Parts: sequence; structure tokens; C-alpha cells
Amino acid sequence: MDFSRYICRKNFNKMTQRTEIASLGEFGLIERLSKDIKHYHKSTVKGIGDDAAVVDMGDKFLLISTDMLLEGIHFDLSYTPLKHLGYKAIAVNVSDIAAMNGTPTQITVGIALSNRFSLEAVEEIYMGMRLACEDYKVDLVGGDTTAAISGLILSITVLGTVAKDKIVYRNTAKKGDILCVTGDLGGAYLGLQALTREKQVFVANPEMQPELDGMDYIIERQLKPQARLDIIHELADLGIVPTSMIDISDGLASEIMHICKQSGVGAVLYEDKLPIDQQSYDAAINHFQLSPITCALNGGEDYELLFTISQENYEKIKQHDQISTIGYITDADKKVALVMRNGTTVAVQAQGWKHF
Ligand code: ADP
Ligand code: MG
Repeated sequence: MDFSRYICRKNFNKMTQRTEIASLGEFGLIERLSKDIKHYHKSTVKGIGDDAAVVDMGDKFLLISTDMLLEGIHFDLSYTPLKHLGYKAIAVNVSDIAAMNGTPTQITVGIALSNRFSLEAVEEIYMGMRLACEDYKVDLVGGDTTAAISGLILSITVLGTVAKDKIVYRNTAKKGDILCVTGDLGGAYLGLQALTREKQVFVANPEMQPELDGMDYIIERQLKPQARLDIIHELADLGIVPTSMIDISDGLASEIMHICKQSGVGAVLYEDKLPIDQQSYDAAINHFQLSPITCALNGGEDYELLFTISQENYEKIKQHDQISTIGYITDADKKVALVMRNGTTVAVQAQGWKHF
């Protein structure tokens, strides 16, 4: 049977009107794809557009989120231990449930592997996953396994739950709210710089010893990020429900823009309030000639939480050593201003990660 009439022609017709995905970017593409999606169930409370989808389960909300990690795009196995990769794949998914103020409960794992990988290699990945499941108390309940032409792909879906009156979205920040961020920023990006630099040195000269002294913290930030479920529990203990929240996977600037765009608000942040670890600061300046502020704003993969609280809750968190107050929400629609140490103000642009 001649299949050729089924193939090609339709694709060729489309080719005459080819739009490069790079011209849309990741967010533009998702916006475009989600435009004509319809929901058929009343139980679908929130679809595309937040850190997780939200489904009404009657007494509470079910949260669902998927994140993929691809070899060559998200990780490089020449410096990523497989155990860490397994751990990270779970942690970054759990982080999206935390960003909804939820508790993760189950995960499923999709894995595609080329024949480069041995049983022992896959078992290493799963050892890391089991560790993360233990740390975050999630049950690995299924998945899918397939061969791949080249490389390794991990696609994780995580489920979680949240009480209906405790859910936190991206689109509910209000003028006057205080902007808070957990932990410190820029470290994961600088860890990646350190690892990629060492790889280049190694490729050029395998005899060279790695120069990673004093970089243990930033490398750990890159290879073994933590989902901030600890903060979710502490906020609950303090009786605080943030007014909006998102996790920082693409960089602070990009995530603030998401909150502002979706909430129809603006924000002011202060350079001197951005939390940057001393090791990140030193590595940026001394080793990579990078601005630590740029790393904090635009470096990705810190997996900290960015959230807003109403002013009445400020007293409860102001002494917290893992929460920094970095600015406040304004009514300047979608405009984010950064007040520099010298008093000047610059507009923040979201760069985020551009894979396309
Ligand atoms: P996050 O960084 O929190 O993982 P993303 O930026 O990946 O979020 O995704 C933003 C929103 O777009 C989420 O609601 C996600 O479920 C949705 N999304 C991403 N890719 C697709 C896709 N291919 N089809 C449908 N929805 C998608
Ligand atoms: Mg997220």
C-alpha cells in the first residue's frame, strides 16, 4: 500500500506558513497552545497557568503537576551523578506542589532510556528518587518505561492535596502586600557555571585537577536542590496563608513577572534585600565575572519560593532566617522596579530560561 499520499502533503502545506517556536519563547508557546483548551468538568478548578492544576475533590483540592528533565537540555551526565538526578527530578516536582501551599502525596515516573544505560545506572537514578520520596514523604505509584534513540528523559507527575481555604495561586497578589523569598538565590546558576567550566577544563586536559574548592555550596544547589516544604509547614504553623505564591525555577525576575502579570499588579524590589549566599557572591565576582544580582534575578533552578503576604503578617516572619522580605506589591500594572543600592531605579526584565 502506498502511504505516501497520507504523509507529507499536509505537512508541506503547513510548512509554507512556518512560525519558529523561538519567536514565541516557552511562555508564548504555552499561551498559544492553551488558548483553545476547553474544560468539560466542573471539578476542574484551575487548568493551565499556575504551578499545578487544581481539581475539586469535594472536601479538598487535588493538585497535579508535571515536569520533565532531558539530557542535554536540563542536565549533563558528565557532571551529574545519577543518584542526584533522580533526587532532583522528584524535588523540582514537589516544589510545584509547595508553590500551591500544598502537600505532595504521590508521583508517577516516566523514563525513556537509550541502550547507553545499564540496569545499574537506572537503579542509581531510582535510589535518588527513593531518597527524595523519603525526604518529602511521597509515594511512587507508577509510571512508564520506554526506549529512546539517544539520551535520557525523565518525566515526573506529582499529585498533592491542599485544604480549600489554604490554596495559594499566582494571580492573587494585592497592592501593599510584602514580597518574600525563601533561602538564597543565584547559587544553582553559579553551581552550573562551576560545573560546566570544570567540564571544559577536563575536556581540554584530562590531567588537570578540578578547581572546585570553596564551591561545595553552589554545586550542591545545582545538583541537589530542595523543595521548600519546610517553609510551607512553618507558614501553616505561623497561621499565614500567602496572598500569592510561585516557585523559582526560571529566576526571580521571571517569577515576579508571572505574579505581577497574572495578578494585574506591579512590584518594587530592593537590591540590598536580595538574599545571596556569601559563596555565591564570591564565586560570581572572583571566578565568573558575573554580577551576583544578575545571577539572583536571572539564574534559574534555585527552587525557592517567592510569595506575598499581607502587611499584618509581617511581624510574624520578620525574624525568620529563611525568609527575606525583598520588596512590595504596587498597582503599577506589570511594572517591576529594582531600587539599586545607590538609590537609582531600573526596570526589571524577565529573562527566564530560553530552551528554544
Ligand atoms: P513551572 O515552571 O511551574 O513548572 P511551567 O512554566 O512549566 O510551570 O508551566 C506553566 C503552566 O503551563 C503550567 O500550568 C503547566 O501545567 C502548563 N503547561 C506547560 N506545558 C504545557 C503543555 N505542553 N500543554 C499544556 N499545558 C502546559
Ligand atoms: Mg513552578
